[in-house]
Amino acid sequence: MNIILFGPPGAGKGTQAARLVEKHGLRHLSTGDMLRAEVAAGSPLGMRLKAILDAGDLVPDDVMVEMIAGCVAHAESARGFILDGFPRTLAQARALDAMLAEKGRAVDHVVVLDVDEEAIIARIAGRAAQTGGARSDDNAATARKRLSVYREQSAPVIPHYEAQGLVRHIDGMAEMDAVTAAIAAALGG
Ligand code: AMP
Repeated sequence: MNIILFGPPGAGKGTQAARLVEKHGLRHLSTGDMLRAEVAAGSPLGMRLKAILDAGDLVPDDVMVEMIAGCVAHAESARGFILDGFPRTLAQARALDAMLAEKGRAVDHVVVLDVDEEAIIARIAGRAAQTGGARSDDNAATARKRLSVYREQSAPVIPHYEAQGLVRHIDGMAEMDAVTAAIAAALGG
């Protein structure tokens, strides 16, 4: 089972992905985590990436597609994967579909976490306070930028998968456990 967990920054994708991994034994592929690891490694690529992440912009599609291609290729033995933070553009979605089709596989479910934008800004600011600023892109100004990037560049991914009949909308503003239960129901129990 291959799942895309989709939604704006701060919607709770990471938390829900971790729960799904535990329940279904799926491989968790978080592009945000991968990018932050690259930044932490301090490589020349990492330094370029840090500037992009801090600005709240998207990393170029070719970098992201290459990053995920290696993971998808190695996910054969797992029971499938849960993509958290990818695809974030229509071009990424099309590239993902093509790389899976090549292996006779496909995206099975796209779970969209719907949230209220102002609540998200508050949630991200809260996360920044909790982590003591561990993520340099967690602040209200960057949150607003990331939300507008989401609306303009990422939201078009939803109709792409709606056309394939794969999308289930979940109320991401509900309590964490209720969101987990709603996702489980959307995935068929
Ligand atoms: P996240 O942890 O998923 O919110 O991602 C943090 C940041 O990493 C985003 O604001 C983007 O700058 C970058 N990023 C993560 N995934 C992608 C992606 N699929 N395409 C482009 N940029 C990404």
